Amino acid sequence: MDKVRETSSSSLQTNFFRDGLQHVEDRKLQFSHVQHGEDQELQLFDFDSVKMATDNFSFCNKIGEGGFGIVYKGNLSTGQAIAVKRLSRTSGQGMIEFKNEIMLISKLQHRNLVKLVGVCIEGEEKLLLYEYLSNKSLDKILFDPSKQAELDWTKRFRIIEGVACGLLYLHRDSRLKVIHRDLKASNILLDEHMNPKISDFGMARIFGGKQDLANTNRVVGTYGYMAPEYALEGVFSEKSDVFSFGILLLEIVSGVKIKSLFHDEQHLGLLSYAWQLWSEGKVMQLIDQRVINSCNQLEAMRCIHIGLLCVQDYAVDRPTMYKVVSMLSTETPLNPPKMPLYIRDVTHINLSSYGSDINSTNECTITAIESR
Ligand code: ATP
Repeated sequence: MDKVRETSSSSLQTNFFRDGLQHVEDRKLQFSHVQHGEDQELQLFDFDSVKMATDNFSFCNKIGEGGFGIVYKGNLSTGQAIAVKRLSRTSGQGMIEFKNEIMLISKLQHRNLVKLVGVCIEGEEKLLLYEYLSNKSLDKILFDPSKQAELDWTKRFRIIEGVACGLLYLHRDSRLKVIHRDLKASNILLDEHMNPKISDFGMARIFGGKQDLANTNRVVGTYGYMAPEYALEGVFSEKSDVFSFGILLLEIVSGVKIKSLFHDEQHLGLLSYAWQLWSEGKVMQLIDQRVINSCNQLEAMRCIHIGLLCVQDYAVDRPTMYKVVSMLSTETPLNPPKMPLYIRDVTHINLSSYGSDINSTNECTITAIESR
């Protein structure tokens, strides 16, 4: 999915990253380990040991590729399996994301967040080493017809709950208030039991003190998952993450990619389609046919209802993640959602004023940008 990135960050963030990376580099000269987040250890690896772990970055160890660079599977001498993200030399923005990721993820620890095992900074080489999640990212299973059946309703619901808990931790329960800004199916990794872990903190932002929203003229994130106030005005907050969570929730229940239904007269986008079924009282039809017989239909319909509450146009109308977690775990009545107009009516939006690095020439149809 096409992604827009930023090249600058707020001074709070910049100082934090600069000081933090300096800390890592200073420590590298003196120690082989850096103490971080709630007593985890972030290990500093030398390039040769990463080379050895990945069999010299062999092609057969390649497990994926993102905007940051290629991702390889590796094995440490201790036997631990790892995923290695190697910063592409051509990636200008990647360096900012690299620092961001180190400083953020090393301060956070939760069972629904991916764990950073270590880093390697040597000459031109910048690498991030994570715990290896054997089922890779959610998109690779959810949207692959040959694998979709592996995700029965129980697993899907557990993924929804886990992502909600991880996001609640970022927004409210961690030492820092963190807005992820790029929540999407390819950033949800699954372990061998299909437990979800949120990954990719390269674009995340820390909010200080009582701050609850921020404005940027550099919109970053992935089209389709971006809240309207963020895509159109550069305003982000925990509620813009809630919007992305709502899209993800609808994707998980339906098995349909946000981008796969085209936005023209015959075909509606996933959001409009979900709304249409909702308003006609046919919301059951949105549930993925592969799970419809095995699923708890009331639970699935409640998820769609929560999803529609999360994607409401106005941030103020969307629930907090605290509320979402509670709605998922109880059967209390839910408010009716308001009709989402954003995707349906805003077909052509000029994003060129939101920063030179936006991957758009003049006008950009938000719903028409395709997945990678
Ligand atoms: P983008 O950079 O545009 O957000 P992305 O999220 O797909 O795209 P990456 O985070 O670099 O990019 O990941 C690329 C792929 O590598 C993922 O989709 C996933 O399949 C795989 N991957 C990443 N981290 C891990 C991990 N810790 N364990 C297993 N597989 C991983």
